[in-house]
Amino acid sequence: FIPEEFPKLGDIDNLMNLSYDELSSYILNLYFDELGEDILREASKKAYDDKFPEEVVPVKMADKAAFLELYHGKTLAFKDMALSILPHLLKASLKLKKDDRKVLILVATSGDTGKAALEGFKDIEDLSIAVYFPDGGVSEVQKLQMITQRGDNTYVAAIEGNFDDAQRGVKEIFTDENYKSELEKKSYILSSANSINIGRLIPQVVYYVYGYINLIKNGSIEKSDSINIAVPTGNFGNVLAAYYAKRMGLPVNKLIIASNDNRVLTDFFDTGKYDSDRELYLTSSPSMDILVSSNLERFLYHISDSNEEKIKDAMKKLNRDKLFEWDLFSDEEFAASASEEDISKSIKKVYEDFDYIIDPHTATAYHAYEKYLEKEKDDKFTLIASTASPFKFSNKVLESLDMEVPDDEFMSLELLSKKMKAEIPLSLRELKSMPIRHKDIIKPSEMRGFIDEIVGDEND
Ligand SMILES: *Cc1c(COP(=O)(O)O)cnc(C)c1O
Repeated sequence: FIPEEFPKLGDIDNLMNLSYDELSSYILNLYFDELGEDILREASKKAYDDKFPEEVVPVKMADKAAFLELYHGKTLAFKDMALSILPHLLKASLKLKKDDRKVLILVATSGDTGKAALEGFKDIEDLSIAVYFPDGGVSEVQKLQMITQRGDNTYVAAIEGNFDDAQRGVKEIFTDENYKSELEKKSYILSSANSINIGRLIPQVVYYVYGYINLIKNGSIEKSDSINIAVPTGNFGNVLAAYYAKRMGLPVNKLIIASNDNRVLTDFFDTGKYDSDRELYLTSSPSMDILVSSNLERFLYHISDSNEEKIKDAMKKLNRDKLFEWDLFSDEEFAASASEEDISKSIKKVYEDFDYIIDPHTATAYHAYEKYLEKEKDDKFTLIASTASPFKFSNKVLESLDMEVPDDEFMSLELLSKKMKAEIPLSLRELKSMPIRHKDIIKPSEMRGFIDEIVGDEND
C-alpha cells in the first residue's frame, strides 16, 4: 500500500498546541479517513496513554542537534510508537468491514519486534498474537521479556533453531492456503505486524512533526525553518516516515540515513548499486542488521515519480540476483555508515560533550550526522531519531564509556544506572521477579501445531 498522493499537513500554527495523541489522530485521519476522526481519536488515546510518560516523545538538546527520544514505551525502543496503535487500527478496520472473525497475528522475531508486538496486542479483544523466537538466539533480557509476557491473548514459543528457521516457518504458514482455509472454518484469519504494514508506517510520521513543533516551541528554530533529520536504518521504515513528513509539507532539508557495518544502504546511496549478496555482520545495533531493506521499495517508487515498471524490474532483479542498479537520485539524502569503533566513539563523545548517554543504534545516526557536517557546512538544525534506551544495550554502552562490563546483564544495568544518574526503567527492573508464563520450546515443524492449540484453547 502506498498513498496515491501525499496529503498536506496544513499550517503548522494550527498544530502547535495539540497533545501527542491529538496530533496522531489528526495525521492518521489524513490517510485513514474512511475510519473516521472519532475512531482515530479513540485509537490514539488508547495507544499513547499511561504506557508512556506525560511527555510521550521528549527532545534532548545537543548544540545544533536534538535527540528525539522515541523509546519511552513499554519495550524501550521506537517500535512501541507504532505497535501501540496498530492493534487499534486493525480492530477498527475489522469493525468497519463488519468482519467478525478473530485475527491471529504471527511474528517471528530476532528479539525486539516480538516483544513490542506482544505489548501492543496484549488484551485487545478479538485479536491474539503468537510470537516465535530462536531459543538461544536472543539476549537473556530479551528472552525474559518475552517468556514473562502477560495478557490472555499472548502466546510465545521458543524455536529449536535460529531466526531464519522461525522466519521460514512463519512464511510457510502464511503461504499455506489449505491450512489457512482450515483456520477460516474456525473463524480465524492470520495477519502480520511487520514493518511494511501501512498501519505501522503512518503513525511514525507523527513524531517528526511533533519534534519539529517542539523545536519551534523551545526557540531552537523559527516557524518554517528547514531542518535535517538523521535516522538509524534497518528496514527503512523510520526514515521513510520522515520522508512522508517532508512530502506532507514539513520543512525538511536532508534526510541523513545511517547504517552500521551492514552498510548496504550507504553503498546504495553512494554508488547506485543495491547489493545484498554479502555477509551479514552481527553488530551492537542488532535491529539494523539487515541486508534487504523492505521499505526501500516504497521510497524508490515515490522518488521515481511512481514508475511502476522501473520498480518491478528492480525488485525482480533483487529477488533473482540479490542485486539491482538504480540511477534516479536527488540531493535530498545523505547516507553514511558507522563501524563498531565509530559507534563507541560517538557514545563517548556525546557523553563527554553533553553529559548524555545514547544507545548504539542512535550512535550510528550521530556518527552519520557528524559525517554530514564534515562534508557540508550546514548550520541548519538536525533532529536525530533516538531509537532505543541505552539500558537496552547496556554492555556496549559501558564498554564505550571505558567501564567494566560485568557478565550478568542485570549488573550492567545497575552500573549504567549510576552512570546515568537515572533509575533502571521499571519494565527491565521487574523482569527478574516476574513469573515465567511461556515455557514452550518447539521444533520448527511444530509451529502449526502451536497455532492449533491456541485456536483450540480459545474456542473452548
Ligand atoms: C527497528 C529498529 C531500527 C531500524 O528501524 P527501521 O524502521 O527498520 O529502519 C533502529 N533502531 C532500533 C532500536 C530499532 O528497534
